[in-house]
Amino acid sequence: MDNREMFESLGIAPSVYDFCEEQLRSLKDRFEEIDAIAEYNQLKVVKAMQDAQVSEAHLYGTTGYGYDDIGRDTLEKVYANYFGTEDALVRSQIVCGTHALATALFANTRPGDEILCPAGKPYDTLEEIIGIRPSVGSLAEYGVSYREVSLLPDSGFDYEGIRAAINEKTKLVEIQRSKGYATRDTFSPEKIGELIKFIKNIKPDVICMVDNCYGEFVRREEPTAYGADMVVGSLIKNPGGGLAPIGGYIAGTRECVERCAVRLTTPGLGKEVGPSLDTNKLFYQGFFMAPTITAAAEKGAIFAARVFEKLGFSCHPASDKERYDIIQAITLGSEEAVVAFAQGIQAAAPVDSFVTPYPDDMPGYDSKVIMAAGAFVQGSSIELSADGPIKAPYNIYFQGGLTWYHAKLGIMMAVQKMYQKGLVKI
Ligand SMILES: *Cc1c(COP(=O)(O)O)cnc(C)c1O
Repeated sequence: MDNREMFESLGIAPSVYDFCEEQLRSLKDRFEEIDAIAEYNQLKVVKAMQDAQVSEAHLYGTTGYGYDDIGRDTLEKVYANYFGTEDALVRSQIVCGTHALATALFANTRPGDEILCPAGKPYDTLEEIIGIRPSVGSLAEYGVSYREVSLLPDSGFDYEGIRAAINEKTKLVEIQRSKGYATRDTFSPEKIGELIKFIKNIKPDVICMVDNCYGEFVRREEPTAYGADMVVGSLIKNPGGGLAPIGGYIAGTRECVERCAVRLTTPGLGKEVGPSLDTNKLFYQGFFMAPTITAAAEKGAIFAARVFEKLGFSCHPASDKERYDIIQAITLGSEEAVVAFAQGIQAAAPVDSFVTPYPDDMPGYDSKVIMAAGAFVQGSSIELSADGPIKAPYNIYFQGGLTWYHAKLGIMMAVQKMYQKGLVKI
C-alpha cells in the first residue's frame, strides 16, 4: 500500500488527498525555515541542560514536603538558562496557564498598585483574576486596580494612550503574546520588546510580564531577550512537549520569581517545598522534545492555512505570513462548516476518535462552543485540537499536533468532513 491508499483506508478520499498534497508542495521553503528554527532551539535546550549539569539522579522525584528535590531545582535552572533569566519556577503544583498567570499577578502587586494592559484585553480567564468581571477573590477585592489601553485599529500600540495611562500606581504591565481568541495579530518578541522599551523609558521600575502561552520555541528568541521581566506559560502547551501531564512555569528576575514562589507555597517556605512526585523525568524530556513538537504544530498550522485559503476561506495568520505562535484561526462562515471541521479533527485523533463532538454551552463563553480533542493529556492543546465558538464570523481555532504527520491527517480529515457535506468543492 502506498501513502495515498493508507490515507484512503482512514477515510480520506483520493481527490481530497491529491488536493492537499498539491498545496503541501508549495510549502517546502516555509517548512525548511521552521526546521532551521527548531534545530536552533533544540541546541539551545541541550545547552541549557548541559550548563545546568543535568544528571540521571535529577530524573527522579520526591514526595511529601519535597525538600532537597534536586531534580526540580535543576529543572528550574534549565528553564532559567533557556529563557536567559536569573531564576524560574517550574512546578507541577501550578495547575494550568491561568494559575501561573494568577500567581505572577498576585505575587507582584500589593494593595494600591495598578496593573496595566497596554495592548488590549488580556486572555479571557484573566478577567476574573483581575476583577474586570467581578469575581470572588479577584485582585480588585485586594485593592489592586486595573487599566487597559486598546490597540489602534491597525493592531499597532497606542503609544500616546499608553504614556497617558502610566501613573504613580502602575506597578506591573501585562502583555499577551498570542492573539488567543482575539482578531489582532500575535506579537513578535521584537515587537513586545519595543513596547517594553517604551514603557521602561517612562517608568523604569515597572514590571513587564508576558503571557507567553503558545509562543515558546516558535522564534529563536523569547520575550525575555527583549527586556521582559517575567514570562509565564503552561506545560500542557509548547514547553511540556506533550509529555508533561500538568504544570506551569514562570521565568524571570530573581525578585519576581521569589515573590511568585512565596505566593505559590507560603512566605518562608517559597521554592524549598513542593514535591515533584513523578513529574521530573516528563518535564525534562518534554522540554527536550518541545522544539520539535512546536515545529510539528507550526507545520500543521501553516498547512491548514494554505489548504483552507485555496478552498476560499480567510485564514489568520495567512499561510505566507511570519508566525509568532502555533494558533491558526480559519473563518469558516457557517455553523455547519465549524461543526464539520471539528468533527474531522476528532475523527483523526489517536484517543476518542469514535466520539462525535457537538456544540454546547461552556462556562466563560457567551455562545455555544464546539471542541475537538482526542488527547493523551486532558485539555492539552499542544496536541491536535480545535475549538470554535458558534457565532459569526464562525471561526475555528486550530492548534497543536505532536507529530507533523498526525497534524496533516487531522487537517485532511477536516477537509474530508466538509467535502462530504458539500461545504467545499474540490
Ligand atoms: C491557554 C492560554 C492561557 C491560559 O491557559 P490555561 O492553561 O488554559 O489556563 C492564557 N493565555 C493564553 C494566551 C493562552 O493561550
